[in-house]
Amino acid sequence: MMYPTIEKEDPSLHQSMIAEGKRQMEGVELIPSENYVSQAVLEACGSILTNKYSEGYPGKRYYGGQENIDVIENLAIERAKKLFGAEHVNVQPYSGSPANTAIYFALLEFGDTVMGLKLDHGGHITHGLPIGFSGKAYNFVQYGVNPETGYLDMEEVRRLAQEHKPKMIVAGFTAYPRDIDWKAFKEIADEVGALTMADISHTAGLIAGGVLDSPVPFFDVVMSTTHKTLRGPRGAMIMCKTEHAKKIDRAVFPGLQGGPHEHAIAGKAVAFKEALQPEFKNYASQIKKNAVHLAEELKRRDFKLVSDGTDTHLILADLSNKEVPGKVAQNTLDKIGITLNMNTVPDDPRSPFDPSGIRLGTPAVTTRGMKEDQMVQIADWMDRALSNVDNETELAAIKKEVEEICLTFPVPGIKL
Ligand SMILES: *Cc1c(COP(=O)(O)O)cnc(C)c1O
Repeated sequence: MMYPTIEKEDPSLHQSMIAEGKRQMEGVELIPSENYVSQAVLEACGSILTNKYSEGYPGKRYYGGQENIDVIENLAIERAKKLFGAEHVNVQPYSGSPANTAIYFALLEFGDTVMGLKLDHGGHITHGLPIGFSGKAYNFVQYGVNPETGYLDMEEVRRLAQEHKPKMIVAGFTAYPRDIDWKAFKEIADEVGALTMADISHTAGLIAGGVLDSPVPFFDVVMSTTHKTLRGPRGAMIMCKTEHAKKIDRAVFPGLQGGPHEHAIAGKAVAFKEALQPEFKNYASQIKKNAVHLAEELKRRDFKLVSDGTDTHLILADLSNKEVPGKVAQNTLDKIGITLNMNTVPDDPRSPFDPSGIRLGTPAVTTRGMKEDQMVQIADWMDRALSNVDNETELAAIKKEVEEICLTFPVPGIKL
């Protein structure tokens, strides 16, 4: 049985934890920002390292008793440097959103002009959402994708950069299925004297695995969460050029955060070690193969994909032609054990609470060992379910099929 001590001491919590384990095991996880971490990452995160306070950085702490913590944090830093070829790495950010906030706080003044991708074109809420901290603290000018092609419009980026002369250009995406031309961003930034910031939260694992190009060699700052394709614990890291190192470190602590979560940092160290192994390259390339295959199979079933496909782990489908709104699709697929999220599509005529599209991806299913054959199966289940949104008998029948197949693909850390 999992978590025997919790079972004894807190049965009501235990019940929900076991139910969640069952859900993760029996269903198909297609949320592109999710993954299944290894047993080793789970052990680090659930370890006694959570007991320790260690404000400061290795060798410069404000509390005693740091002789082991310093070794652990340095391991995480050195491995991250090796994995991405970074000059400087800060592994303390609690998560992606505070990490982005720290970067802005380090390198900008309040009110400075920054460019980021519009939310409904695939940007993140920390890239200038007007009601968010970034949108209120800085003057964000938002660029978009070409509505015809679904691809980033680099000419528009250049035009807006020339017009607004931003202090920083943010390139990084939460719902964009295509590869990024980092060099083009860097060229435009150089033309107007802007700093370059890449947010590779979604694609860090594909970059580490050599499947996608890296912005690290020529961008000023690169942020990544550690819990998406990188398959580590919930958290983030900031990589930067040496010239920005001091400012970044001071912005994270004491600028924005207090004590670092050393159990999570240990989890990051483990995940970076795993990502440095040769097998991780196979994992990363299979994520993309699965996504490309799933995209093709969905297209054969008359799903309309934004940009008509994918270069990454992520697919964005516009369901307008199927006359199933994104929310209905999400709820219907929940009923058959396929988890994904409703999402706006570029220039969505519907609201973010009830958008036209769905966003899905292959990092989690690939961790379970699923390959092209299962992608055909998943496309088929999705198509059948969305053609039968009111047919509870058919949905129940599909759910049984989903469960049967999922149980033959183990999930690390879950034994029921
Ligand atoms: C997920 C994500 C983040 C934020 O990460 P949290 O850990 O959820 O705060 C930031 N930027 C991008 C592009 C993301 O995809």
